[in-house]
Amino acid sequence: MADALRLRLPPRGWLALAFGWLALGVLAVILAGETARHDAQAELARQAEASAALHAAVLRSDLEKHRSLPVVLAQDPEVASLLLTPSPADVELVNRKLEALAGQTRAAAIYVLDAKGVARAASNWRLPTSFVGSDYSFRPYFTGAVSSGDAELFALGTVSGRPGLYLSRRVVDGAGRVQGVVVVKVEFDALEADWRASGEPAYVADDRGVVLVTSVTDWRFRTTAPLSPDQRQAILAGQTLGAGALAPLPFTATEGEPRVLTAAINGPESAWMSARAPTTVTGWTLHLLTPVGGTVRAAVLSAQAVAGLLVTLLAIGVAVLIRRRQLAAAREAAEEQARAELERRIEERTSELRRAEAGREALRDELVQANKLATLGQIAAGVAHEINQPVGAIRTYAETAAAYVERDDPAGAKRTLTRIGDLTARIGAITDELRAFSRKTTAQPTPVSPDAAIDGALLLLSGRLRASRVEIVRAPGPEGVEVIADRFRLEQVIVNLVQNAVEALDEAAAASPRLDMKVTARGKAVQIVIADNGPGVAPEVAASLFTPFVTTKATGLGLGLVICRDIVAGFGGELDLKPAKSGATFVITLRKA
Ligand code: ADP
Repeated sequence: MADALRLRLPPRGWLALAFGWLALGVLAVILAGETARHDAQAELARQAEASAALHAAVLRSDLEKHRSLPVVLAQDPEVASLLLTPSPADVELVNRKLEALAGQTRAAAIYVLDAKGVARAASNWRLPTSFVGSDYSFRPYFTGAVSSGDAELFALGTVSGRPGLYLSRRVVDGAGRVQGVVVVKVEFDALEADWRASGEPAYVADDRGVVLVTSVTDWRFRTTAPLSPDQRQAILAGQTLGAGALAPLPFTATEGEPRVLTAAINGPESAWMSARAPTTVTGWTLHLLTPVGGTVRAAVLSAQAVAGLLVTLLAIGVAVLIRRRQLAAAREAAEEQARAELERRIEERTSELRRAEAGREALRDELVQANKLATLGQIAAGVAHEINQPVGAIRTYAETAAAYVERDDPAGAKRTLTRIGDLTARIGAITDELRAFSRKTTAQPTPVSPDAAIDGALLLLSGRLRASRVEIVRAPGPEGVEVIADRFRLEQVIVNLVQNAVEALDEAAAASPRLDMKVTARGKAVQIVIADNGPGVAPEVAASLFTPFVTTKATGLGLGLVICRDIVAGFGGELDLKPAKSGATFVITLRKA
């Protein structure tokens, strides 16, 4: 998961993710809605069943109360005597009794039929609609009670036209002969009004599915399922059920789960939860309808809203997580890239510097060599003179030696030849020095004796020095001290400095030109001091003495001191012009070896 989230999603990936999430969200909303619907319906079904059971209980208590009436009246002595020996007094007595009883029990009517089915007494005896004297022998509750002891029949009243349940029981004498039938008619107006008021339509259907008691008056005598013609015939026999009777209800009470049906009850079509409960009257079932709409819809909507919100929040959370990880990855990548770029640049710069350094090194070598050749050119005349002079001397000594040989003076000849040997050695020393000096070297500092370098320089310059009559004064330096340098480059620097001094002295035509040279050691530093008693360096020249092309000479290049300082720096040392009262004093400072 973590790795998947690390993926950098291309735009199309985001789109796919969004669609996937949308599909998931829709699914979650649907599932949540369906679960909530199921739960809400189950809860509603429980409520409807409880309500139906309550309705049934009320109906039952009402019925039980009235059922006891015919039983009690069938054994009543006054009723019995009315049927046996009817007298006006008995009739009135029973009439009043039934009237009072009906008032107490709120039965619609209580009346007593004789064995022929004619009403002898009735609770409504005072009213114009009095049953007294009417013949009810055709009514099934009469025939049923006569034949089987008691009967229950729901029907419309013949006179009132009002529906009600007729509870009847036969009255028998001591010999078991049927004397008559007691009938109690129960009407359910009050109950129906109560049910109507509850807002939950309720109805009672008998075992044939005919609706009897109902809070919706239109449904009375309708059927819960269509009837066959034979069934209709059988039910209609001996009954007047009114217009539209036995037509099916405008809905079908479903049997299965969930028991939700759609019907237009007191308004437009809507959903109802159907519940049922048995009653004590055989075959009667109480049906109750609870409106589904609001509760279930609200539950479904709120569950869907919650699911939608959760999915959205989760989507936002995941999106934020992915984005953050992407940003972190991008930042990491950027940092990595920056690091690599920096490394690359450092590498580049390093090699550039290395190249530059190598270039500089090569350039320095070139300059050193150029300066060396220039110096050689300048000292060439002096060197040639230095060689010519002993060569001339050798020639003279050779002639002298020849003379000694002729004179047969071997000792003299030997002495002279020794002189020739010395002079040859001197020439050899100069040419050796010259060869070594002119050789191209690369700066590879090693321990070098500063005195040896001075000796070499003075040897190369000896001709030049002699020509200018400059007095060289060398102070004895510390014994055996060595410096870190290159023998011939150091010699080159000394040659340059001495030559500059000699030129300055020649130029000034000083009375007694003099060059002081000494080596001093202090701590880890060794100094070679070369001081002349010439005119010194002009202040304006001194300020930029070591800058290229600074010269006061007509044929000068102004590079000599620049290259000298560079050579000394290459040894890790310094070359400076030291302030002096008169003349010029140059100091080479080197590291002690
Ligand atoms: P160049 O010898 O070609 O002029 P250098 O760098 O060797 O170049 O010298 C630069 C200048 O410094 C010289 O032209 C000269 O004016 C001055 N200079 C060098 N050494 C001395 C010295 N010992 N006394 C007086 N001036 C000097």
